[in-house]
Amino acid sequence: MGRIIGIDLGTTNSLAAYWKDGESRLIPNAFGEYLTPSVVSLDKDGTIYVGKTAKERLSSHPGQTASLFKRFMGSSRKYNLGSKTYLPEELSAMVLKRLKEDAESFLGEPVEEAVISVPAYFNDMARNATKRAGILAGFKVERIINEPSAAALACQNLRQEEDAVIMVFDFGGGTLDVSLVECFDNVIEITAVSGDNQLGGQDFDDAIGTYFINKCDLVPETLEPETRALIRSCAEKCKRELTENKTAQMVVNCSQVNQKLEITRKDIVAIGAELFERMSKPIKRVLMDSKLLSAEIDHIVLVGGSCKMPVVQQYLKHLLNRTDIEILHPDHMIALGAGICAGIKERDEEISDLVLTDVCPFSLGIGIRNENDLNRKLMSFIIPRNSALPTSREDSYVTVEDNQTSVRFGIYQGESMYVDENIKLGELIIQIPPRPKGEIECYVRFTYDINGVLEVNVSIPQVNVNRQMVIVNKDLGMTAEQVEEKLGEYQKLKINPAEQEENKYVIAWGERLFMQSGGEYREEISKKMKYFHHIMRNDPYQIPRVRKYLMVYLAFVEKLTDSYVDWDEAGIEDGSWYDEQDEENKEIDNLYRQWDEEDWTK
Ligand code: ADP
Ligand code: MG
Repeated sequence: MGRIIGIDLGTTNSLAAYWKDGESRLIPNAFGEYLTPSVVSLDKDGTIYVGKTAKERLSSHPGQTASLFKRFMGSSRKYNLGSKTYLPEELSAMVLKRLKEDAESFLGEPVEEAVISVPAYFNDMARNATKRAGILAGFKVERIINEPSAAALACQNLRQEEDAVIMVFDFGGGTLDVSLVECFDNVIEITAVSGDNQLGGQDFDDAIGTYFINKCDLVPETLEPETRALIRSCAEKCKRELTENKTAQMVVNCSQVNQKLEITRKDIVAIGAELFERMSKPIKRVLMDSKLLSAEIDHIVLVGGSCKMPVVQQYLKHLLNRTDIEILHPDHMIALGAGICAGIKERDEEISDLVLTDVCPFSLGIGIRNENDLNRKLMSFIIPRNSALPTSREDSYVTVEDNQTSVRFGIYQGESMYVDENIKLGELIIQIPPRPKGEIECYVRFTYDINGVLEVNVSIPQVNVNRQMVIVNKDLGMTAEQVEEKLGEYQKLKINPAEQEENKYVIAWGERLFMQSGGEYREEISKKMKYFHHIMRNDPYQIPRVRKYLMVYLAFVEKLTDSYVDWDEAGIEDGSWYDEQDEENKEIDNLYRQWDEEDWTK
C-alpha cells in the first residue's frame, strides 16, 4: 500500500506532511522549502509551473498566471491562462500534483492517498470540488478535514495536555476561520466554528496598495496589469516589513511608477479599519454559539500567516481582553494536523485511539411555503449549524394545497431565513395522488457525514414512496465524465521536471527584475540571462555554477531596486541627488565588474 499524506491546500501557500515515528513531519518541496505558493502559471510551450516559479511570474506574466483560486473553489468561475481556461479545481489539482511529486521524491515511495484540509466555511460544492481536485492530481481522497480541526489536532498534539477548551484563530491569505475546540479523554471535538471566507492577508495587501495609489496621486485606470501586480506584491512586502519594524518604505519602481511611501504600523490600523471590524464578527459568533465567555477559554491559539502581524495580535488581545494569546508555528499547524490525520488513517498504533469529531459549519434545510409572501420561500432548518458530525436528522412536512399532485423539496445551505438568500444544493420532486391539504405527510431526513457528503431521504409512507438523493451539483464544477476526460488531458500536459525547477525559477525571477529595473541593469540582466539560456541548451554540466552566479547578481539587483527610489527622493529633498547616486553607482559598478570578470567572460 502506498503512503497517505496530509495536505494544507491553502489560498496562498500549500504544505504537505506525513506521519513518521509517532509524529507529524513536514515534507519539503523541490526547493527544500515547506511552503509551496498556490500559484499556477502556463508557459507558451504548454509547460505548467507551480509554486515559487509561478509566483514570480505573477508580475512578469499576469495574463498566464493564476493565484487565489481557492477563494472560488466549487464555482464555475474560469481562469484564463494564455489561451487556455481552467476551473479553480483544475488549478488546485495542479498544485496538489506538484505536492504529490515532491512528496514522492522526498519519501522515495509512491503516495496514493491524501487527507486534504478545507476552510470550515467551505460549502458542499467547494468540498466536492476539492475532492475532485485531489482525484485529478492522482490521489485517492477519502477524507476532507476542516482546517481548524487540523490546527486543533496539531495544537493538542504539541501540548500533550489533557482537558482544554481552545479557540483557534486561523487568519491566512484569503480566509479567516475561528473555531472552538474541546479536548477531553483523547477526544478532540470541534464545538463551534465561524469565519469569513473572503477575508485574509490579501485584503491588507489590497488596502495598502489602494492607500499607496491614493497617496501617490496615481490614477488606477491608467495602470497596466503588470504595474498593478507589482504594486500588490510591493504592498505585501511592505506589510511583512511592518511585522518586523514599526515603519516601512513601500517602494514601487517600474516604467509607469517610480514612487516610495513611508507607512507605519499605526497607519495599518486606519488603512485596515474595515478589515479589523470584519475580523471581530466570527469571534463574537463563535462565543455566542458556544455560550462561552472569553475568560472561559483555556487557550487562544493564532495560526495562519496573517496572524504574524503585530497589529492583528494586538487587536485580538484588545477584543478578547486577554494578554495570553499564543502563537505556535503559525505557518505549519494545519499541515501538521493534516499529517496527524494521515497517521490516523494509516492506523498508526500510537494515535489510533484518538477520536476526532467535527461539526457541520453551516445549516442545512429545505424551502417551505411563506404565507406572508408566496414568492419568497422560508428556510426550514433540518441540520442546524454546529451540529456534531456525523449527524442524521428528520423532520416532517404536510401538503399545503388541496389536490396537490406533486411536492417539491428544494435543498438549501445557509443561515438566512429566506431560501433565496441561501445556496441551493439540489431539488427533489415527488408525484403524489391528489388529496385535501394537510393529508399527506412527508418525512425528510438529512444525513451529513464527516466527509461533508449530504444524503437526503424523503419518505411518504401513505403512498409508499421512498426517495434518496446524494448532493452533486451538475451546473457548477465538473461531472464524473468531465473529470475522466480531464484526467486524460492532464497526462498529456507537460509538468516540468523537478530538477529543472530551480532553473525556471531563476529565469522567472530574472524576467521580473528585468521588468522592474531600468537602463544598464536591464541590459546586464538580459545579457546574463541569454548566457544562462545558452548554457542550459549547450552545456548542462555548467548549469549549477552559472545559475548560482546569476542568482547572486539578481539578488544584488533586487536590493538595488528596493532602494532605488529612496535615493531618488533623498536627492530631491536635499539637493544632493546626483552626488549620492554617483557614489553608490561607483561601488556597484566595481562589484559587478568583479563578477563579470570572474564568472561570465570565460
Ligand atoms: P493560506 O492559508 O491562505 O494559504 P497562509 O496561512 O500561508 O495563507 O498566510 C498567507 C498570508 O500571510 C499572506 O497574506 C501573507 O502576506 C501573510 N504573511 C505571511 N508572513 C507574514 C508576515 N511575516 N507578516 C505579515 N503577513 C504575513
Ligand atoms: Mg491556511
